[in-house]
Amino acid sequence: MVMYYDPVCKDVLTPDQVKANFTHKETSYKFCCEDCRDKFSQDPEKYVGRNWWQRFIYRLAESNAEEFKGEKLSCH
Ligand SMILES: [Zn+2]
Repeated sequence: MVMYYDPVCKDVLTPDQVKANFTHKETSYKFCCEDCRDKFSQDPEKYVGRNWWQRFIYRLAESNAEEFKGEKLSCH
């Protein structure tokens, strides 16, 4: 299962809970709502990479995304 981490409200999101995207320094962040996205876009550094848990979740999301791509390719 692909999971995303909302860095503003610190919630873990499934893909259908993602309501907004924002790209900062070539990393794409997902948010549960546009309010979170707006807060993030005003001051991304405040929310990015300050603790191990965030880095862990991002790494997890990235490796899940790669696995997911592989599954899709071998689907048919
Ligand atoms: Zn949020």
